[in-house]
Amino acid sequence: MNNKYEAMVLSCIDPRFQHKVSSYLSRRKLRGKYSSFTIAGAAVGVTHANFKKWQKTFIENLETSIQMHKINKLIVINHKDCGAAKLVNESKQFNDINENKIHRESFQRLKKIIIKKFPRLYYEFHIMTLKGSIKSFDA
Ligand SMILES: [Zn+2]
Repeated sequence: MNNKYEAMVLSCIDPRFQHKVSSYLSRRKLRGKYSSFTIAGAAVGVTHANFKKWQKTFIENLETSIQMHKINKLIVINHKDCGAAKLVNESKQFNDINENKIHRESFQRLKKIIIKKFPRLYYEFHIMTLKGSIKSFDA
């Protein structure tokens, strides 16, 4: 790849994950090569009806990064025990099944948007655990 910049990273505002996300991206040799969009819930925040107003801002920022920084990939990092996912889960038990369903749905919704609006953009969907390990998701 000739591009200086490679990706936009969509992640959550949760303070427990800032350094974990950053060290994960360093391990992938992406330091200095990504732009960062941080919003409560990451993919949940930009796709769920509860946070309706947030999607437009994200899309516009992604568009800007594609144009200005010539990035060609979106790396999405949701995380376990996320407050936004709990909010969306409402009164249901916040177990692994319900939690995973919320993340999977957010990835599927986001994938649809990307395919429609940015057909040449690559994308990756991940969930980070509290210990900082990463699980990739095929949306
Ligand atoms: Zn979160």
